[in-house]
Amino acid sequence: MTFNLEIDHPARVLIVDDEPHNRQLLEVMLAGGYLLQTAASGEEALAIVAHQAPDLILLDVMMPGMDGYEVTSKIKGDPATRNIPVIIITALDDRDARMRGLNAGAEDFLSKPVDRAELSVRVRNLVRLKAYGDYYDKYSRALERRERMLITTLSSISDFAYVFDRDGRFVYVNQPLLDLWGITLQEAEGKTFFDLKYPDDLAALLMRQVQEVFANTTRLTGETPYTSPTGVHADYEYIFSPVFEADGAVESVVGITRDITARKREAEALGVAKDAAEAANRAKSQFLANMSHEIRTPMNGVIGMTDLVLDTDLTVEQRENLGIVKSSADALLTVINDILDFSRIEAGKLELDPIDFSPRDAIGDTANALAWKAHQNGLELIVDVDADIPHTIRGDPGRLRQILINLLGNAIKFTPHGEVVLRVGVEAATPPEILLHFAISDTGIGIALDRQQRVFEAFTQADGSTTRAYGGTGLGLTISSKLVQLMGGRVWVESEAGRGSTFHFTARFATASAPVSMPVPDAIDLQDLTVLVVDDNATNRRLLEEMLLGWRMVPTLAASALDALATLRAAQQSGQPFPLVLTDFQMPDADGFTLTSTIKNDPTIARATVVMLTSAGQPGDAGRCRESGVAAYLAKPIRRSDLRSAILTAMRVRTAEQHQPALVTRHSLREARPSGRILLVEDNSVNQLVARRLLEKRGYTVVVAGNGREALAILEEAAFAGFGCVLMDVQMPEMNGFECTGLIREREPRTRSRLPIVAMTAHAMDGDEARCLAAGMDAYLSKPIQPDLLFEVVERQLDASHLPPSPAARSLPIKDVRDRPVQDRAS
Ligand code: ADP
Repeated sequence: MTFNLEIDHPARVLIVDDEPHNRQLLEVMLAGGYLLQTAASGEEALAIVAHQAPDLILLDVMMPGMDGYEVTSKIKGDPATRNIPVIIITALDDRDARMRGLNAGAEDFLSKPVDRAELSVRVRNLVRLKAYGDYYDKYSRALERRERMLITTLSSISDFAYVFDRDGRFVYVNQPLLDLWGITLQEAEGKTFFDLKYPDDLAALLMRQVQEVFANTTRLTGETPYTSPTGVHADYEYIFSPVFEADGAVESVVGITRDITARKREAEALGVAKDAAEAANRAKSQFLANMSHEIRTPMNGVIGMTDLVLDTDLTVEQRENLGIVKSSADALLTVINDILDFSRIEAGKLELDPIDFSPRDAIGDTANALAWKAHQNGLELIVDVDADIPHTIRGDPGRLRQILINLLGNAIKFTPHGEVVLRVGVEAATPPEILLHFAISDTGIGIALDRQQRVFEAFTQADGSTTRAYGGTGLGLTISSKLVQLMGGRVWVESEAGRGSTFHFTARFATASAPVSMPVPDAIDLQDLTVLVVDDNATNRRLLEEMLLGWRMVPTLAASALDALATLRAAQQSGQPFPLVLTDFQMPDADGFTLTSTIKNDPTIARATVVMLTSAGQPGDAGRCRESGVAAYLAKPIRRSDLRSAILTAMRVRTAEQHQPALVTRHSLREARPSGRILLVEDNSVNQLVARRLLEKRGYTVVVAGNGREALAILEEAAFAGFGCVLMDVQMPEMNGFECTGLIREREPRTRSRLPIVAMTAHAMDGDEARCLAAGMDAYLSKPIQPDLLFEVVERQLDASHLPPSPAARSLPIKDVRDRPVQDRAS
């Protein structure tokens, strides 16, 4: 609200005189500065005033009809006109007339004859006074309006509003609060909280707070329950705010109080609902853990026993039928794992577990696991890992394998014929980080453009009929893309219906400082060993060449059996025969067996050791290998470490010049491992049988304990000696695995390296591994027990137990083991 004191129009002056001459005289004297009006009588003057009020009236006293006194009385008696200043004009020496005029309310007088200078000063002063008066009127009216507005507003809100003076007395209280107290404003004014019968301690607190606001000049908030004299009980929140004077001093304090009973009740209800939701979530996790246990335990029996029976002599039909049992069980396990992972994603609990690992081995492993399936479907599975990929990186190899298994598995599943190629390259190297690019291409059914984005959504398949034709849950890509996201990469697809798909993903890893140790110390130096590589596929030749060069061998490449024979003979003639031939099995002109037989039947070159790389282990391969004179055979795709071991072993056998050399296979390579005594602690009889048979077949002696207490007794009796490793179930009656491990760690002698303990648990939830490690275990296997993993873990622990005890000695990365795929066991 701003007002301008300047008079915005020239002042209006009304001259009232019955004598035309006098009127004219005054008009002449005032001309220029004012808007002049004239009236010839009192009646005329009043009519003009009523029509438009002037700012000043010059009024003659003696007039016929209504005289000047009466006119003055009328103007001063009407509130609408009483602010108009009146100057009466009288005869020079007529004191009575002047007094009468002033008494009637006139502001001033002038004597005739009127002096011009005096007239102009008096008129000017009174006009200015009138302007002040008008201004004041206008301003106070506006203030009144504003006050009414404020009071109406404050009484229309449901909050309580009130104002205190410096003594903490109410100067204003809005209607809702008056209603609550059951009194009128007049009754409230000037009262304090004490006067209004607030409980003493509450009144004292509030008064103190009001004083604090005056002193500190800052607002203050509080909460309190209060019961009014009218019997209303509620929880209140209040704010006391200072009202400042122009000079910054606090003039009064405004209070606003709000009923927060409903809000508090809602917050409480929300808290209860939140607790309930959290409890439900915990129950869900617990249920998942239990389900995982309940499903995996019998699955362990199914898969383990099937594996055992598959390793015995069977008719073709039995083998086929059991193969179906095995693949169904594996498929079921995959579904269970997918659902568990998906629940983890939903719960935001999917996490990576980074360790140093060899990406080549991880990739090779995975391809190995899927090769059998690819070859069974008549597909070529080609793996092309760029030479730039570092030997060791830091990341989660288990989860990387999971993505690869899913994408390769899909590629194989959705490709009726042709090939599946996995290419791995470096997208960007920004030490200490590296971004790898994986591309999985197939020549399969492809995905229509409009479905390409949706396949990454949960439970979604490119088209409904896919489910019937190919099976699947539609979760694989969802899980994979989440994992890729966790690895700081992205996943995308390029595809054309009917022409195949390429799934790409990138993943970020840390570059590791030390390489992961290479297996098997050399008995034979591979360096400078010449080797002939025979393969019709150029990519495979390149891969083999790269691996061999990595060991400083000297490879020569041949694209066919004929080519190979010519090369072998030429080398013989030049006096530098090839001691070693690595040959593919399937080749267009003559296959690997034919080539080997030809070599072995040609006395000039028969001394070469032949290692065969087959597409898939077929029943009968071993016999054919032996017949044709192959020293070792391995199923493709080849794992570096397996190839190296196979070459070393085959060459060693050759060096020993045995007449009946043993055939080297992946199994025999593993069988060359150390054997020992293992304590198996397991309450479930099926699981006992499975694990025991597997381990015994592998050449171990197994002692079984039915629970932790029994295990402890056995170990104590043996003085903790004589066992290479303990396989420890976690959930057991009497004494569980955690407790038992704790007691073993407490009681075993400190003089020896500690006894390796491997947990076997049917729980596959996050946190299990940490609990196992915390309990003093060294590694972790999740059920169902997969034979290859079991052996790998046990053997690593046995190896490690020969080393001095150190954290590094129990370095088999837990996740690495747990999430390893079901391995191809047919070869
Ligand atoms: P599913 O368990 O059904 O394979 P995924 O999430 O792995 O679940 O895949 C979702 C869908 O994406 C599949 O059902 C299929 O329709 C499509 N899809 C995935 N990979 C391929 C591929 N290589 N070729 C064609 N279609 C594919």
